[in-house]
Amino acid sequence: MKFAVQSKGDPTSNKIKEQITRYLTGFDLIYDEEEPDIVISVGGDGTLLHAFHRYVHRLADTAFVGVHTGHLGFYADWTPDEVEKLVIHLAKTPFQVVEYPLLEVVIRFNNNQSEKRYLALNECTVKATEGSLVIDVIIKGDKFETFRGDGLCISTPTGSTAYNKALFGAILHPSLSAIQLTEMASINNRVYRTIGSPLVLPEHHTCILKPVNDVNFNITIDHLFLVHKDVHSLQYRVAEERIRFARFRPFPFWRRVKESFVGD
Ligand code: NAD
Repeated sequence: MKFAVQSKGDPTSNKIKEQITRYLTGFDLIYDEEEPDIVISVGGDGTLLHAFHRYVHRLADTAFVGVHTGHLGFYADWTPDEVEKLVIHLAKTPFQVVEYPLLEVVIRFNNNQSEKRYLALNECTVKATEGSLVIDVIIKGDKFETFRGDGLCISTPTGSTAYNKALFGAILHPSLSAIQLTEMASINNRVYRTIGSPLVLPEHHTCILKPVNDVNFNITIDHLFLVHKDVHSLQYRVAEERIRFARFRPFPFWRRVKESFVGD
């Protein structure tokens, strides 16, 4: 089996990376950063987001597992103390895989009708480059509303505990193949009106955002920050691809939510 280790880059994470690499090569696993079967991320959720985008072109062939060197992460649930146990699991037992939904984002441009496609593990956010975001929201081909406000966030189920949660979106179990649209400070008065509630869209329900006037946007895809000019539309749906996590022990999603946000 071929593996790679992605470190956050701080001394603790680098040391654990070196330790994992030494142990696994000692078990005759091959270190291969180009075509790994498994990627071990050492750091936090942000490190796993980086690892996901690095290997996004080979999701069908690469599984992920996360070790956290800070607080418990949603994607990084192994502690540094458990590294030896994790390595033995990896070397000795065929691992189970759990698959979680991703968000597909297609940005189309006015000039030469080109488009760019992205996959997000957490979410995509859209904001205006200046002033309020004014954008039409089209769901399954029908205009739903014109949104005016700070911005919109479209998240995956596993991303529902990230930015989406701060916007009072619902937490979605990742067994649901769905995406969620949440508002950032919508303007609501006698003239302007938006739904005001988060919307959860199932697989095959496409959401399109279409600029009303301004065609330049600040767009984030997970940790990636992009400025896109001359945008014709942004299209969102549940992606066909899924992320695969290597599972060595049960850690139910709701327990993870409780441990991260509620405590004992
Ligand atoms: P980062 O690594 O510092 O992450 C920011 C925080 O978000 C960390 O505490 C991390 O553990 C947490 N996080 C990331 N993914 C999560 C998930 N799926 N569930 C629960 N918590 C999660 O910063 P970064 O590397 O730039 O990460 C980008 C992410 O930060 C974005 O995908 C977005 O979700 C999040 N973010 C959140 C807010 C907010 O809550 N107001 C604002 C901006 C960005």
